[in-house]
Amino acid sequence: MRKVQLLIVGAGPAGLSAGIEAARAGVQVTIIDENLRPGGQLFKQIHKFFGSRVHNAGVRGFRIGEKLLQETRELGVEVLLGYPVYGIFPGGEVVYGSADGVKQLQAEKIILATGANENNLCFEGSVLPGVMTAGAAQTMINLHHVLPGQRVVMVGSGNVGLIVSYQLLQAGARVEAVVEAGPAIGGYGVHAGKLKRAGVPFYLSHTVQRAMGTTEVEAVELVELDHFKAIPGTEKIIEADTVCMAVGLTPMTELASLCGCELVESRGLGGLVPVHDHDMRTTNPNVYIAGDISGVEEASTAMEEGRLAGTAAAESLGYIPAKEAARRKEEIHGRLDLLRSGQFGARRAQAKIEIERSFAQIKRGGEVR
Ligand SMILES: Cc1cc2nc3c(=O)[nH]c(=O)nc-3n(C[C@H](O)[C@H](O)[C@H](O)COP(=O)(O)OP(=O)(O)OC[C@H]3O[C@@H](n4cnc5c(N)ncnc54)[C@H](O)[C@@H]3O)c2cc1C
Repeated sequence: MRKVQLLIVGAGPAGLSAGIEAARAGVQVTIIDENLRPGGQLFKQIHKFFGSRVHNAGVRGFRIGEKLLQETRELGVEVLLGYPVYGIFPGGEVVYGSADGVKQLQAEKIILATGANENNLCFEGSVLPGVMTAGAAQTMINLHHVLPGQRVVMVGSGNVGLIVSYQLLQAGARVEAVVEAGPAIGGYGVHAGKLKRAGVPFYLSHTVQRAMGTTEVEAVELVELDHFKAIPGTEKIIEADTVCMAVGLTPMTELASLCGCELVESRGLGGLVPVHDHDMRTTNPNVYIAGDISGVEEASTAMEEGRLAGTAAAESLGYIPAKEAARRKEEIHGRLDLLRSGQFGARRAQAKIEIERSFAQIKRGGEVR
């Protein structure tokens, strides 16, 4: 069986950053991704990123992806594309698909950077063609240059819902409504402002009750909510051919679970996440995680967590002396703390502390070496 020193699953911002950091230290790195293009979510992001300049604010997402790819190439990192990883055994045996059939390899250390899945809503008509996630619509317009529909109802007013709505407008669709179950817009004012100026109506304290149509979506019925409960008699019909759902993401933890990592529920991080320590190490001592799999945040935090996991894995393989590794990890933590300040960030910072506490508890119980 082929042997690799460090295998990284997922070539998104977290996986690529982890690969760069470990390869710089001298580790032999292989990154594997089921997509034919590396970059994960980044290549769909044509908008300029928000945040601080250290974290690429003002740079378009796909440009950040191009820079990361260039660096992996220069460092000689092996990137296998179009290869889905089906399973990982606790001892590091990895089973993946390829054009030549199912293959296996043995990895000394593993970093899981598999990202997150988009959530869906279930309502009458939600299986009609025309109902999709916001990410699917974004892939269609920004990667394949195909408009998913002409008249769109967006469900969810977080940053994803707002950004994808604006990109749909730019691509030539009409956004008939942004629907939000809560009483206030969830995302940044700067994104909402662009939609308001374009005349897009916002329906706060509303949800989609049903998508109507025989073979595809023809109209959408909205209903007003009182503390998330439908108010009878407030239904309104909006003509539309597309319903996009931007209602959160859930970390993709299947591989972590298969290779014996303990999972814990965290509301602040999007659902079940692998328990991990300050270095992104899971309860399987040879497996690290980084990015949205460890809790849904942003590309900037995904990249920093990637650097952290890459540094920690290189240290454990003997490529970075403990003192130097500690210095580098502290620097990365400083930047992560910055990203996790502010109203939304502070909640995620607290959730991360709770996860690390769970790790310490499990370690005290003797289950982690
Ligand atoms: C509309 C939108 C706008 C955003 N805007 C911003 C922004 O302005 N600023 C910001 O910081 N963040 C933004 N984000 C968030 C950011 O894109 C994500 O947080 C980030 O991409 C997470 O990185 P990741 O590497 O963890 O996962 P991903 O980018 O999702 O990459 C995961 C990779 O793993 C691969 N993979 C998964 N499972 C397997 C398997 N079994 N086998 C092989 N490969 C597998 C996938 O194919 C994918 O390429 C935005 C997201 C969206 C949807």
